[in-house]
Order: sequence, then C-alpha cells, then structure tokens
Amino acid sequence: MANKAYKFRLYPTQEQAQLLAKTFGCVRFVYNKMLEERIQIYEKFKDDKEAMKQHKFPTPAKYKKDFPWLKEVDSLALANAQLNLQKAFTNFFSGRAGFPKFKSRKAKQSYTTNMVNGNIKLADGYIKLPKLKWVKFKQHREIPVHHIIKSCTITKTKTGKYFISILTEYEHQPVPKEVKNVVGLDFSMNTLYVDSEGKRANYPRFYRQALEKLARAQRVLSRRRKGSNRWHKQRLKVARLHEKIANQRQDFLHKASRQLANRYDAVVIEDLNMKGMSQALHFGKSVHDNGWGLFTTFLQYKLEEQGKKLIKIDKWFPSSKTCSCCGQVKVSLSLTERQFRCECGFVADRDINAAINIKKEGLKKLGTA
Ligand SMILES: [Zn+2]
Repeated sequence: MANKAYKFRLYPTQEQAQLLAKTFGCVRFVYNKMLEERIQIYEKFKDDKEAMKQHKFPTPAKYKKDFPWLKEVDSLALANAQLNLQKAFTNFFSGRAGFPKFKSRKAKQSYTTNMVNGNIKLADGYIKLPKLKWVKFKQHREIPVHHIIKSCTITKTKTGKYFISILTEYEHQPVPKEVKNVVGLDFSMNTLYVDSEGKRANYPRFYRQALEKLARAQRVLSRRRKGSNRWHKQRLKVARLHEKIANQRQDFLHKASRQLANRYDAVVIEDLNMKGMSQALHFGKSVHDNGWGLFTTFLQYKLEEQGKKLIKIDKWFPSSKTCSCCGQVKVSLSLTERQFRCECGFVADRDINAAINIKKEGLKKLGTA
C-alpha cells in the first residue's frame, strides 16, 4: 500500500465558513483541555515514566458533557486532535521533540477528518464532508479510481483561503529496481544540497527575490502602529508573501526531488535531526526554511514509487572530515575551511568531498561497494 495526498482549493459558503471556524476553535479547545490534564499527570508521575504511560489518555467525549457545543462539530476532528496530542507526547518521550505546547489562537487553522462508512464523497466539483455537507471545491486533477480516501485535512490560510488535502491509499507494489546509478547528497544551508557529482541545487532567483521582498515588507510592518488600519493592511501583505514563498519553495522542492528520483536508482543522504541541529548550532529558523525535511519526504516517496531507494546513513558518520580519496579522517575541520585538503594531496570543495563520502557510505550499506 502507498499513500498519496491531493490538495485542492475549497470554497465554503458563508454558513459553512462559520462552521469551519467553529470546528477549528473546538479542535484547539479540546487539544488544550487534554494537554492541561496530561500536564497534571506528567507533574504527578514525572519520575515514573512507566506509570505515566499506563495512565489513560483523556478523550474528547469526556468534555462533551461540560461543553455541549462541542457536539455541534465533526467528532472525528476532535478524535484526531487527541491522536495528534498523543503523537506529540510520543515524540517528546522518545526525545524527538520538545514538550507539547498549547495551541494559540494564532496557530494554524486546521483540522483532519476521516473517511468512515462513506461519509466523504466527491461529485461535480463538490465534496461531501461530515457536518458540512456539500462544499464547493476546485478539483484541478482527478483522483484515480483505485485510490481509497482515508482522511481529509481542511486548512484556512492567514489570507483567508481554504484548502483541502485529501489523503488516499492505493495498492502499489513497484518492482525493485536494480541499483546502477547512485548519488550522494550533502545538506547545504544555502543551496539545499551539493551532490557527489559536484552539482548544487540552487533555489531559483525569483524565490530569493521574494524572500528579500518579504524581509522588506516585515520591516515596514514593524514600523507601523500595531492595530492601525495601515498595520492591518501591511500584515495581510506579509501573510500573502509568506504563502507565495511557501508555494514557491514547495514547487522547487518537488522539482528538485523529481529530477533526482528520475535520474538515479538510489540516493544517499545523512539522517540529520533537523530539530536538534537547528538548536545545537543556533541556526534557528533558517534550517527549517531550507526545507530539507520536506525535500527528503518528497524524495523518498518519489523514489519508492519507482521501486528505488532513499538510503539514510548515520548522522555521526564523519562525512566532512574524511578524505574521499584515501579515507584518512581529520581530527578537526573548522566550518570556515571551504576547501578540503588531505596529506595525500587530494584537494576538493568541502561539500563535494562530503557528498562523495556519503555516496560511498551508502554503497557500503547497499553492499555494492
Ligand atoms: Zn587523502
């Protein structure tokens, strides 16, 4: 089985938009309520993780008695809020994420509902959703008939647009491809990656220009009086630019991953923990902006669709410090050294040297080296 998501623009009526707003609010409310309870449990069992895990998770049904208006919205959306919180805690306990946070009003407006007994249907530019009934949407591409709808996520952007992402599942068993062409990628802060053949994936110029435009618009916003008309206007402008940039980045990441997935039978990357990395090196937001996580997700499913492989090597592998020619490992290599120079006489760009090492390590893992 494989998954594929389809995203479309949604056009709710005013009445439907009201119900959507209510649903976003209820999902946030229930999430925060459950988190509140979980925090109490956490405080109580802090030193006994096992006892905490045994403790039953609060369910949304529990709150419906005290807050009857919760019954007005899609109960599946509330159930998914519970699952999301559980996932957040699982990630916290495994060290992959920080302690779950409360959702603020400013957080992303979104909820997920599931396909249960044919409650979601598509017909003539309309999609039937629980509680909302038929909502108009722009279906610019067909969902193949052998795809089964699993869930739908409805989102409202900061500029007031609605989108629906339809997650489907389908039977897919690609024939494993014989591995001939392999490439290694070294993550790069500025250009996304450098590959073992020396090519750099460069963000397009218009994307960088849009980033500069956004920075300017944000400076203007910071000078405006908060809450004034001109401030509101500028805030909307900033939100629009944000959306545009996110779309451009996504397009670029799709294209870059598509090209690699078509050209190579296997792609080797380092299994970077982006969260840990941004915290450790104080790169802050820029690492997330770089979209490496999104890129590797795209790359993985685009390769797998064709029976190809994404190979992740250990993040502690010294890809930068190793000479890709003789294999000697340097004791130290500062971030400012852009050229890799080895005692054996080998000289190469630091990133390309790393990418070649990553490829070699991947080949070892594949057992073809
Ligand atoms: Zn060497």
